[in-house]
Amino acid sequence: MKTSIAIIGAGIAGITLARAISHAADVTIFEKSRGLGGRMANRRREGFAFDHGAQYFTARSPALKATAKQAVAQGHAGIWPKAVHTLKADGLVTDTRAPEPRYVGVPGMSAFANGLADGLHIRKDTTVARLAASEGGWALSDNEGHDLGRVDLVVSTAPAPQTIRLMPETFAGNAALKTVEMSGCFTLMIGLEGPLDLGFEAARIEDPVLSWIAAEAGKPGRSDRTALTIHSRNDWAEANLERDRGEVQAEMLQSLKQLMGQDLSAATWIDLHRWRYANVEKPAGQSFLFDEALGLGACGDWCLGNRVEAAVESATALSERLKRRLQGA
Ligand SMILES: Cc1cc2nc3c(=O)[nH]c(=O)nc-3n(C[C@H](O)[C@H](O)[C@H](O)COP(=O)(O)OP(=O)(O)OC[C@H]3O[C@@H](n4cnc5c(N)ncnc54)[C@H](O)[C@@H]3O)c2cc1C
Repeated sequence: MKTSIAIIGAGIAGITLARAISHAADVTIFEKSRGLGGRMANRRREGFAFDHGAQYFTARSPALKATAKQAVAQGHAGIWPKAVHTLKADGLVTDTRAPEPRYVGVPGMSAFANGLADGLHIRKDTTVARLAASEGGWALSDNEGHDLGRVDLVVSTAPAPQTIRLMPETFAGNAALKTVEMSGCFTLMIGLEGPLDLGFEAARIEDPVLSWIAAEAGKPGRSDRTALTIHSRNDWAEANLERDRGEVQAEMLQSLKQLMGQDLSAATWIDLHRWRYANVEKPAGQSFLFDEALGLGACGDWCLGNRVEAAVESATALSERLKRRLQGA
């Protein structure tokens, strides 16, 4: 009988790991959300479409480059943006660096993960809240104590502060997990009637409140309705995480007005998303965590960095370790 493995989280790390080991093990991914992709996220509202998490990813490793190119060929990904400019209080600084391919999912960011997840066994809308030792493996249950089954090995790809809450005190990776620091982010989504020419597709923002702005309609395969996605700075989000959402939104709109000279507070659609764990400030500094004796592991961007590439690299490294264990099993 094949070794059974539960992977917690259908973000890019969980999906990458599942794809790499599914031929050698009986793998189930548990994902608490309705959709796949984790922080590679998008939403549609009133005909407006927003990528409210990761904006694009780069692919420097040969493996991810090949995966990204294949996703482009299959129509799950496209190339965007051509340039990332810098928006400052005194104007726009044009990006003159040689362009490096940047990828987005098509028609939304999560489509990249969805394309890769084809054929995987995924239980959506299912939160793993507890792991209990059971017959040499682990019994999983949800928030209401419902039994989610028993498996031989468990890997968590949830952000480090959430992984810590799941792992037993005896997990060998706990010391490394405790060193990880992650920060939040607020994402403002604005939908407008009629076109708006920003003069750029995407720009980093130098500002005490905001860090990023993107015009969604220019991305491949998107709705042509005018939609802007704006991220706060991570340090500003951390200082304002528990603040009233209306106040957060108003302050972000005020900063945008100062930068763009336009008041967008009467836009057709405005929404705010709070990311509790968006960015990795201090990674674990190890490619993955794995407790051979307990049969518990963890991987994700927070092991190595704060980007999609770090999540893929971490999951790939853990998959190699698991493949060795599965071959010996
Ligand atoms: C606002 C923002 C902007 C970003 N911009 C960029 C960018 O431009 N470029 C870039 O490369 N990266 C960017 N990133 C970072 C990038 O999104 C992440 O590095 C990457 O997506 C992390 O993937 P992951 O699989 O490690 O984690 P996640 O995507 O967080 O996946 C973890 C998954 O686990 C699930 N989960 C958690 N707990 C449980 C549980 N108990 N039971 C079941 N499921 C659970 C979650 O729902 C989630 O789907 C950005 C992130 C944010 C939030």
